[in-house]
Amino acid sequence: MAAESCRWCGGTGRNDALHHRHPSGACRACSGAGSILVYLPPRPCPQCGGTGVGNTPAPGLGSVPCRDCSGTGWLFFIHRFDGDGA
Ligand SMILES: [Zn+2]
Ligand SMILES: [Zn+2]
Repeated sequence: MAAESCRWCGGTGRNDALHHRHPSGACRACSGAGSILVYLPPRPCPQCGGTGVGNTPAPGLGSVPCRDCSGTGWLFFIHRFDGDGA
């Protein structure tokens, strides 16, 4: 496993920096951790090309997280939570 930065928030752990339409607060993809534990070798999600952003249904609606990777941008991952020491 390796810690990779979460694509949805760009590693900030915050929801509102890069995307609209989502309330400010902890990133929905990484639960505010800013990083994701990715199985090695790290594989970007092919659905979104590793951006974590899914197809926007209509202009002006803002970004939506990729369904395949939940916005993390990675293909095989587990969520990282503070304090679990994993
Ligand atoms: Zn995030
Ligand atoms: Zn994806």
